[in-house]
Amino acid sequence: MTAHEFNMTTLSRVIGNDEMKWITDQFSRLKDKCYLESAGAALYPKNLINAVNDDLLNNTFMNPHTDKYTRDCIEHIRSLTLNHFNTDSSSYDVIFTSGTTQSLKLVVESFRFSETQDKNAKEGSFVYLNENHTSVLGLREIAADKNADIIHISHNDFLDAVRDQTNMFSSSNLQDQSINNSLFVYPAESNFNGFKYPIDCMGNIRNGCLNSIIDGHPWKVNRKWFIMLDAATFLGTNKLDLSKSRPDFVVLSFYKIFGYPTGLGALLIKKRSASILDDKRYYGGGTVDVVLSSERFHVKRTDIHERFEDGTTSFLSILALKHCFDVLHSLIPKSVNNDLMETISHHTFYLAKDLYDQLKGLKHKNGTKAAVLYMDSDFSDVTKQGGIVTFNIVRDDGTYIGYNEFQHMADLFGICVRTGCFCNSGSCQRHFKKTNKDIKLLYQSGHTCSGNIDLMDGEPTGAIRASFAYYNTFNDVDKLMKMICRCFVNTPLVRPNRSLVSWNKGVVTEMKAEYHNNNNGLEPELSHYSEESEEKIEFDVQAEETAVLKEIALFPIKSCGAFKVKSWPIGDKGFAYDREWMITNHNGVCLTQKNNTRMCLIKPTIHVNRNLLVLHCKGWFVNE
Ligand SMILES: *Cc1c(COP(=O)(O)O)cnc(C)c1O
Repeated sequence: MTAHEFNMTTLSRVIGNDEMKWITDQFSRLKDKCYLESAGAALYPKNLINAVNDDLLNNTFMNPHTDKYTRDCIEHIRSLTLNHFNTDSSSYDVIFTSGTTQSLKLVVESFRFSETQDKNAKEGSFVYLNENHTSVLGLREIAADKNADIIHISHNDFLDAVRDQTNMFSSSNLQDQSINNSLFVYPAESNFNGFKYPIDCMGNIRNGCLNSIIDGHPWKVNRKWFIMLDAATFLGTNKLDLSKSRPDFVVLSFYKIFGYPTGLGALLIKKRSASILDDKRYYGGGTVDVVLSSERFHVKRTDIHERFEDGTTSFLSILALKHCFDVLHSLIPKSVNNDLMETISHHTFYLAKDLYDQLKGLKHKNGTKAAVLYMDSDFSDVTKQGGIVTFNIVRDDGTYIGYNEFQHMADLFGICVRTGCFCNSGSCQRHFKKTNKDIKLLYQSGHTCSGNIDLMDGEPTGAIRASFAYYNTFNDVDKLMKMICRCFVNTPLVRPNRSLVSWNKGVVTEMKAEYHNNNNGLEPELSHYSEESEEKIEFDVQAEETAVLKEIALFPIKSCGAFKVKSWPIGDKGFAYDREWMITNHNGVCLTQKNNTRMCLIKPTIHVNRNLLVLHCKGWFVNE
């Protein structure tokens, strides 16, 4: 990034250019890389690693079971963590875990689904939103083992139910039946496309607004609802105020907020709900008050986090958290409502909105739309949408570009995005309109969750996800858009008009001109085919001048050997017959050398005049 560029363009809608430059300096290790994968993992700032390093080099920390000083530091960090969520130890407790996934498991393993000892009584239900992360879907197996009833709720049913005030269900209607405990799990923000699910509806859920959806279910029971909020994606760029939204359990991973440390997450438990987790079986070092080795006798500790943190906590990682909070506060100005996380959520929202608006308007020369967006909001409301844009690119004839092809091009341009289904099969199915049967068929023909089949019968099996964090700027949006236009859409790009805005107590003031470009805020049109606007993405120009063409290697059949020539005709797609054919299995799935290494022994030769492709192979495959 040149200083010139910083002065010329607005970098953020909420953070001033000088402050933004101070932030991006922390990530100078990226060089020309453009990181748009923060929903996968945030990046750690330089100051954080320095602070952690200094702390470890200058202090002696011991096993917290041994050392009171280390223990006190950890207790302090527990309260810092609760402060971050605007609550304290009178209302919530923090249990440190290895991450979101372990936190989720801990709750379901410990959750008491039934209120009675009666073996014939029906257990409560494990209820989840279809749009959950795979780590939530896996909980079904634990819940099923505990005889809980497994129920899924669709995106639309959930939104309708929590919004519909008339649908309120009084639990007193079923007074004569036994009370069962039901656990509902949903994400605060979709990791698929950044849609934010309502988190002001906990009261409605406890009052039974979801009962109506599952009413048709054979076991009509008087449910006592408990809510687990999967906040793993949400917390990276948002403020969770636990004095307002009061889920019973919140799960999170710290690397998604701070980038470091990995292997550390938390389970926040509302103290009043802690007793429902008394079905915890396992105990380890530190979680019992008394245990006998020769008799099956133990009593678990009473303090909530002491009861749940089996073994020695990841104490050096926990100690790093103090620096995580400090550094984030020192780096980022509290431009929006004097709040750190609100500033980040507005900053990322406007970056993503800028990309969304550009993709939405992106057209090929023939006027057809170049992007298909998979969103559940139109970026009109920061409380409903986070800094994520999910899309695919289509050619001017309407055919899809596979996400693998996109990923390869993005790699060449140093742009990091996520492609595929992002461990969220529910959202994928809904957006790609695939039935369960479709998915099973796809699986039979070779498509797997992290597999490399990006198109089936021309239809996408996944998408491209760009996610933003506090260290991204409008320059990152420009890099991605330039790459898309250059590789896939043959039209010039116009950089949108952007300006910094001052946010204060809901009053928004445009800061005119200051950060605008000299051209009245309008950039000259960025043509991808004109010399000046190109960034350093091109290949070595000097080499071009001195290079001599010695040989051309064609690959007529994907994954087979090369056919080498000195000169060759050019067709309308490049070298004639280059990558023209592929070998498929009986399901039409392309075979590659990755799984079939001996394909490289097949050597094709093309006789253009005779219209002939000849395949040679030394030492043919032995049938095994
Ligand atoms: C990342 C993520 C998870 C899984 O988190 P781990 O750190 O891999 O345990 C679960 N849910 C959501 C919404 C996520 O974004």
